[in-house]
Amino acid sequence: TKAIRIDDLQMQYNKRIVLSVPGLEIPEGSITGIIGPSGAGKSTLLRIINRLESPTRGKVYLHEQDVWNQRSENMKLQRTMTMVFQKPTLLDKSVFQNVAIGLKARNVDKKILDEKVLSALKTVGLLELKDQKAKTLSGGEAQRVAFARAMVLDPEVLLLDEPTANLDPANVRLLEDYIRNMNQKKGVTVIMVTHNLFQAKRIASHVAFLYEGNLVEWGEASRFFDAP
Ligand code: ADP
Ligand code: ADP
Repeated sequence: TKAIRIDDLQMQYNKRIVLSVPGLEIPEGSITGIIGPSGAGKSTLLRIINRLESPTRGKVYLHEQDVWNQRSENMKLQRTMTMVFQKPTLLDKSVFQNVAIGLKARNVDKKILDEKVLSALKTVGLLELKDQKAKTLSGGEAQRVAFARAMVLDPEVLLLDEPTANLDPANVRLLEDYIRNMNQKKGVTVIMVTHNLFQAKRIASHVAFLYEGNLVEWGEASRFFDAP
């Protein structure tokens, strides 16, 4: 079954069409790599899926529910998607508090909150840094905190916008491991924007190629990456 379905999507800025996707279905439990050169419309597509921007035309469905439909049950839908950006946006607070933010907003019971936060920090190897101020972290550590913050929310769909673009190779591999883990152990559907074909080859089950706002290729990763 599909997690996300896109229907007749179009985005214009100043009357210029920057994205045009007639149709796309993202299977539940997949890791879909959105690939393409700079300016191809990758981030725009991800932002529209995550409702950070509304499209000029067309619809995005999450489990067959229109994500732009404002009915109350939709609040629940909204919560099932979480996004991690290229640059981690951390608050000037401790590592622990940064990871706990989303759970606090949901009024999660303190005992459960502590458990989830500490467990996520352990997963990303930052348990010892839990009381350290976020602004003192290295780039790799900061992105791992941002990832832990997404992890504790138990999303059904994880949206990643070039999450490893600024990281050194060791941190890239760590992040890729966390992504794979969330996908395989928790069944999280992952949609990841990357301009790195090698990264897509390493972790994507499906790939979508965008070029000048058009979806030029779409399918299982093995179709594109398997050795002949
Ligand atoms: P990618 O993520 O593939 O690099 P983007 O989705 O960021 O591409 O951008 C696609 C196109 O849309 C680019 O030509 C960019 O200049 C344009 N664009 C993106 N955001 C805006 C905006 N807020 N206003 C005007 N043009 C924009
Ligand atoms: P705020 O100032 O935002 O209210 P608090 O300092 O009260 O944040 O901490 C928020 C929650 O996180 C509390 O439940 C606190 O017990 C817990 N907490 C904060 N730091 C740690 C830590 N290092 N280890 C375990 N729990 C922590």
